[in-house]
Amino acid sequence: MSDNTRLRIAVQKSGRLSDDSIAVLKAIGIKLQIRDRLLIAHSTNQAIDLLRVRDDDIPGLVMDGVVDLGFIGENELEEKMLERKAANKKHEYKTLRRLDYGGCRLSIAVPNEMQYDSVASLEGKKVATTYPFLLERFFAEQGVNAQAVMLTGSVEVAPRAGVADAICDLVSTGATLEANGLREKDVVFKSKAVLIQKAKALSEEKQALVSRLLPRIDGVIQAKE
Ligand code: ATP
Ligand code: ZN
Repeated sequence: MSDNTRLRIAVQKSGRLSDDSIAVLKAIGIKLQIRDRLLIAHSTNQAIDLLRVRDDDIPGLVMDGVVDLGFIGENELEEKMLERKAANKKHEYKTLRRLDYGGCRLSIAVPNEMQYDSVASLEGKKVATTYPFLLERFFAEQGVNAQAVMLTGSVEVAPRAGVADAICDLVSTGATLEANGLREKDVVFKSKAVLIQKAKALSEEKQALVSRLLPRIDGVIQAKE
């Protein structure tokens, strides 16, 4: 284990949230030397270490208290929270800031030829998704009996492959849906990137550092608006 007096922050290693999350840290004056293959990056001017992992791992790392802070999409965060709650695992965290990037929506989409009036049209049907807990909560709220089918990839080809009747996937422009003969119908969850902190109190030194960083993050968010 590395030095526990240094503030540990989890960021997505490579993907849609990586560059913007690193940009926030750099914009608030944290000097980082990131070597592409390494899991850990040490700041050279602050007592901060970055843990670079898959975004799926970030909520659990924060909820288990393995890292102090994490940059994560609310979709992934809420899904993991529901999953861990159902499994009686630690699922608490604090949201420090909602950020101005990573915007997307988790939407239900159906094949062009399918009759769809409202979510009730999915009664008795199968819906492929990477977010079964968010989708099943939505079905429960809407009073619809439909089944979420878990797929970690290629969700958009599930209807054509005969694996599901419809899908529930992340959308930003809708181009992927269109390319696969699907129409976006209902928004299940709206998401942005957030900065979260573990539920258990930080040491005095670490908390003092976080308290110095947050106003600078606010400055960066405002500057972009
Ligand atoms: P990893 O290898 O880290 O698991 P991934 O393939 O799960 O990566 P990305 O595609 O990089 O993840 O997406 C990460 C996050 O970016 C999403 O969970 C979501 O919060 C956000 N995001 C923003 N726009 C989109 C989009 N159009 N499609 C998917 N995710 C998006
Ligand atoms: Zn992921």
